[in-house]
Amino acid sequence: LDVPENPIIPIIHGDGIGQDVGPAAQKVLEKAAEATGREVHWMRLYAGESARQEYGEDVNLPDETVDAIREHRVAIKGPLTTPVGAGFRSLNVALRQTLDLYANVRPTYYLDGVPSPMKAPEEMDMVTFRENTEDVYAGIEWEQGTEEVEKVRNFVEDEMDMDGIMHEGPIGLGLKPISEKGSKRLVREAIDYAIENDRDKVTLVHKGNIMKFTEGQFGSWGMEVADEEYPDEEVFAAPDSLWEEQDEVDIPEDAVMVEERLADAMLQWMQLRTDEFDVLAMPNLNGDYLSDAAGAQIGGLGIAPGANFGDNRCLAEPVHGSAPKRAGQDMANPTALILSGRLLFEYLGWDDTGKLIRDAVEETISSGKVTYDLERQIEGGEKLGTTDYAEEICANIEDLA
Ligand code: NAD
Repeated sequence: LDVPENPIIPIIHGDGIGQDVGPAAQKVLEKAAEATGREVHWMRLYAGESARQEYGEDVNLPDETVDAIREHRVAIKGPLTTPVGAGFRSLNVALRQTLDLYANVRPTYYLDGVPSPMKAPEEMDMVTFRENTEDVYAGIEWEQGTEEVEKVRNFVEDEMDMDGIMHEGPIGLGLKPISEKGSKRLVREAIDYAIENDRDKVTLVHKGNIMKFTEGQFGSWGMEVADEEYPDEEVFAAPDSLWEEQDEVDIPEDAVMVEERLADAMLQWMQLRTDEFDVLAMPNLNGDYLSDAAGAQIGGLGIAPGANFGDNRCLAEPVHGSAPKRAGQDMANPTALILSGRLLFEYLGWDDTGKLIRDAVEETISSGKVTYDLERQIEGGEKLGTTDYAEEICANIEDLA
């Protein structure tokens, strides 16, 4: 990535618990950078509640925020609240679409000492690639009673053959666009990642048996990428993997196998056969559900990091939302945002800084010093507030550096 050695990093603290975890994570990231001979130059940006305060009630996502991320190419953000049912569209989705951040990448790995409902949580070491701009999250919906809804009401009724139910009251309507270009670039990213990081397998997760021309196409386009774009035998597109056990398939040594799985079954396999999965690539909605569920298996949303990637762009953000009930109480877990910062640093090539962050977080958690979300589950755990927990990680950074 062609960025200056000590680049400017735009940061949005975010809504709700963002005001707690934002400053805490910033301190830890600065400390780790400093301990590895680097300096972080932050640029504070506003979105959501903070934007309304700075720019006026109608401004949720100022142009300055979007332009700064576009210019500096890397940024980190906390969560932004989205009203349910009505109100403005998701700012997170708007950012991902406007900046064409098409791959949402979430590594899910076990940190020593973290409580988990799984029998062997240390087997969990997966990276999910979620398509980030299309699918039902494109936000193309029509309110009940609008002309568009009325226009298609008869058509929907005929297709569903349901005895007039579509005429009995209001109906909702939305679109699920999935494109060849959008699917292929996402799968390509996942395969390239697997090759570069010595992973064995990429699993395409979709529901193509039901949604044939959207999810099904995602699977077919993904298999086409595996089949046609890697001629040197480094990638093996497993035939009929949806229906047949792959143990019997003869896979070239050292090749990355690309297979398909149905999304509902995948949620089960992920828990029952955790060690079989490596890199997953999927359309937007599947990716949202599946990555939250995977996060829960290794300690919950408080520690699950993520980042959105486009061509030459990275916006790191945790998996969790703004958890309004916990906001402003110095209690939320900043680990997810801190580890998202680690992803950003590694994108910049700061691998030693990233490793130091992971080691210091692991050291802190395994010593039993944790925030409220993990404390309840750790025997003899000591509950710390957001600020003190971050201080503890900083002290461990100093010790480990
Ligand atoms: P959420 O992730 O905010 O919270 C769910 C629960 O998880 C919380 O009640 C809390 O118990 C726990 N939790 C989450 N993060 C935690 C942390 N860091 N430390 C400790 N506990 C934590 O999900 P939600 O309640 O469904 O959504 C709240 C708001 O966040 C909504 O407006 C939603 O749209 C938004 N959201 C934003 C993003 C984003 O900015 N990328 C992602 C998801 C949800």
